[in-house]
Amino acid sequence: MGRIVLDQVSKKFGDVEVIPPLDLTIEDGEFAVFVGPSGCGKSTLLRMIAGLEDLTSGNVEIDGEVVTEVPPSKRGLAMVFQSYALYPHMTVRKNIGFPLRMEKMPQDEIDKRVEAAAQSLNLNDYLDRKPGQLSGGQRQRVAIGRAIVRDPSAFLFDEPLSNLDAALRVGMRLEISEMHERMQTTMIYVTHDQVEAMTMANKIVVLQAGVIEQVGSPLELYHKPQNVFVAGFIGSPK
Ligand code: ADP
Ligand code: MG
Repeated sequence: MGRIVLDQVSKKFGDVEVIPPLDLTIEDGEFAVFVGPSGCGKSTLLRMIAGLEDLTSGNVEIDGEVVTEVPPSKRGLAMVFQSYALYPHMTVRKNIGFPLRMEKMPQDEIDKRVEAAAQSLNLNDYLDRKPGQLSGGQRQRVAIGRAIVRDPSAFLFDEPLSNLDAALRVGMRLEISEMHERMQTTMIYVTHDQVEAMTMANKIVVLQAGVIEQVGSPLELYHKPQNVFVAGFIGSPK
């Protein structure tokens, strides 16, 4: 499961309406990318889905349930941030298992889940290392592993690769795409990078100043951009 519906969701900071009321549906298992220039409201929208930001109006539904008043930790979502904080004194194994220890899950179940997460992220050989002994890309994978172990119904990524150098970024994009193919879990991925959007998404949501300009597959956006902004942003020939 992992169907996410935004129903007339809007956001004001003080008197400034950064997101006028909008509707959006992310289907179960989709890889949706929110793309648009810096400041257009991508992070705010994602944070409202996660419950980290109050809504000014409207509702968020997850799998048919209105979760607008449900705290972030009870929404069954995993948020992977741009700046990932790993515990430097803990091994990879301990870092990945951390959220489960907080939930007081039995140790044998934690071990099983950590092993499975490490398997799916190619981290088996690094479980006993500490973050300082890992590359940037490996640390990023540990951060994702910490999200996977909780078996979320959807993953939310906010520009998770922007701290990595160009070569690593390409590799991590591929890894996240492969992870989606294996798990078939809903993912919402925020980026200002058109290439990332076009190569990773099933569904692209193009935002400008808090307004959805177009929703569609990469091919639809490329071949049928609805306006000059989308055409220019996606780089299609219109
Ligand atoms: P993006 O992630 O697309 O770069 P954001 O969602 O971070 O955009 O920001 C959207 C708009 O809301 C920007 O104009 C930003 O300055 C404003 N904004 C974001 N957070 C706050 C806040 N806590 N208080 C006031 N304004 C904010
Ligand atoms: Mg942002």
